[in-house]
Amino acid sequence: MKTIGVIGSGTMGNGIAHVSALSGYKVFLMDINEILLDKGLQKIKSNMERQFSKDKISKDDMENALNNITGITNLESLVSCDLIIEAATEDVEIKKNIFQSLQNICNEETILASNTSSISIDLMASITNLPENFIGMHFMNPVPVMKLVEIIKGSKTSKKTEDKIIKLAKKMGKIPVVCNNSPGFVANRILIPMINEAILAYEEGVASVESIDKIMTLGMNHPMGPLKLADFIGLDVVLNICKILHKDFKDDKYRPSSLLVKMVESGKLGFKTGEGFYKH
Ligand code: NAD
Repeated sequence: MKTIGVIGSGTMGNGIAHVSALSGYKVFLMDINEILLDKGLQKIKSNMERQFSKDKISKDDMENALNNITGITNLESLVSCDLIIEAATEDVEIKKNIFQSLQNICNEETILASNTSSISIDLMASITNLPENFIGMHFMNPVPVMKLVEIIKGSKTSKKTEDKIIKLAKKMGKIPVVCNNSPGFVANRILIPMINEAILAYEEGVASVESIDKIMTLGMNHPMGPLKLADFIGLDVVLNICKILHKDFKDDKYRPSSLLVKMVESGKLGFKTGEGFYKH
């Protein structure tokens, strides 16, 4: 594998492009317009400069990595990629359209991966010509810092695809852990109900935002409280995953809290919009 395409230059996409480029891969980073793309590319530059200022990477590493990244705004430019990692908005229709369009661009060796937090790997694989080449590659936020990549095998993912992706994740300095396709996989099936419960506790006046987060950090030894974590993930992303768990498991224990819905409707999405449970 030499060339990696990353679709979506938001929170996760720019992080995936960042680590791929620092690991020596040629990267094509794609978004729907130049403004969003530039925002992603600027974020990569500032994050690498921070790593350089903290002596985590050398100047050469940074310059080589930045030279490895080409920004694009059309899928056709991904034709030379050995692997395409989709990190677009968590919306089934958006993802289906992307994978449908990629069918005319990929060859039979191209591996397609999705960074989805909760959408079925089998559902997305089923709209591709080669479901055996499809896999879930769920990076954690912030991608340059977090070691885990949850690797999700679809029911038709081949062993060859799985092995190649495990090898690649290790080359990126990550620790891949494999699981099977199921709503929310492992990470979000456990994390999102906890965040939703924290929001419900706040909504019901059980404790303040700060107290809930303090109880969970000090009491459970979590590095960050659930409400602060929700702000960093993005409340829209949390809500989308909650809705998918609710729909797929058909169980009301996953129903999103009304406060979460209200905050998303009013544009309070957390860190990315400057306000969520905290001001940023
Ligand atoms: P984001 O909103 O920050 O970024 C999404 C980007 O995708 C935007 O820049 C948007 O313009 C772009 N996009 C939308 N439609 C597109 C298309 N058709 N073609 C190309 N680009 C398109 O979202 P994010 O937080 O980076 O999430 C991306 C994916 O990663 C989602 O599937 C999400 O569930 C998953 N994920 C998110 C987190 C997290 O903590 N935010 C963690 C793990 C996985």
